[in-house]
Amino acid sequence: MQNQATIPILEFTFHNDKLMQRLLNVENLKVHFPIKRGAFGGIKHHVMAVDGVSLHIKPGETVGLVGESGCGKSTLGQAIVRLIEPTAGTIRFHEKDITRIPGRRLRNIRRHIQIIFQDPFASLNPRMTVKQTIEEALQIHRLARSKRRRLERVEQLLVSVGLNPTHATRYPHEFSGGQRQRIGIARALAVEPRLIVCDEPVSALDVSVQAQIINLLNDIQAEHNLAYLFIAHDLAVVEHISHRILVMYLGQIVESAEADIILRNPRHPYTRALISAIPTTEPELKRRRIILPGDVPSPITPPAGCRFHPRCPDASSECGIEVPSLRQIAAGHWAACHLA
Ligand code: SF4
Repeated sequence: MQNQATIPILEFTFHNDKLMQRLLNVENLKVHFPIKRGAFGGIKHHVMAVDGVSLHIKPGETVGLVGESGCGKSTLGQAIVRLIEPTAGTIRFHEKDITRIPGRRLRNIRRHIQIIFQDPFASLNPRMTVKQTIEEALQIHRLARSKRRRLERVEQLLVSVGLNPTHATRYPHEFSGGQRQRIGIARALAVEPRLIVCDEPVSALDVSVQAQIINLLNDIQAEHNLAYLFIAHDLAVVEHISHRILVMYLGQIVESAEADIILRNPRHPYTRALISAIPTTEPELKRRRIILPGDVPSPITPPAGCRFHPRCPDASSECGIEVPSLRQIAAGHWAACHLA
């Protein structure tokens, strides 16, 4: 059905054991946005949205990325798909450095790394039918070249995300929020990616619809061995889909581990606070809720030492001076805290 010969510039092999271990490898990635003062002012400061993040994702793995709004997680996701240019660091996909590849080679990469956005309505063109929206992706990547094949593929994709093929001729405003997110997923799947960055894909949806979309993403992953970077501000959502969880605070990863380990034995005070906010019916757990004082500090002038120290219930005088490194505290469990 697809013409593989049309993507000759960046070929990937999926049979090398070493490469199979790391689908995506991000090292020391930084995204700093310059701030200018006045019409003729020079650059005075930088918003350090992402400040030295390293992570990897294996084929078929879901890595949850969690943190409060403004911590830089969406910027990180968009930098990985190259919607935002990184300031420093490297992004490797199947061992190929894609950090700064331009033009047509970037288009080929985007076939393999797709993104689903938080607001399904804003991410769909209101003037395009569902068929046109999905067809556009097929045409850009020169897949399913004949009209008949494209229509078959669109209908097949709609069925695979739980929509009726007759919906192909409708416009985005004719769908509910959950259905629109299914269309976004179908559009991402159209080009048969290996990795999807899911940027808060259920945050705008009702709780019952959230569960449906998460179940759908799980089913699609099982069928296609897809990898996800699943971004959310709510740990309660991330815990249901992730194999591993990364906790982000003020542009940096502060803890990472297998999902069940991080939920049972969080070692960073910030992770403990996030976990304490997960709704529970157990009164004992409710009493242990940790309320963090103040707001997340500005990413323009982050606090010295540990960036979390102004809000940390366990902070000592050392924490305002010494920067805690992200170090391995148990097999596969990393934390950036002097006490961990
Ligand atoms: Fe809290 Fe200090 Fe650990 Fe930072 S290093 S999380 S301030 S205890």
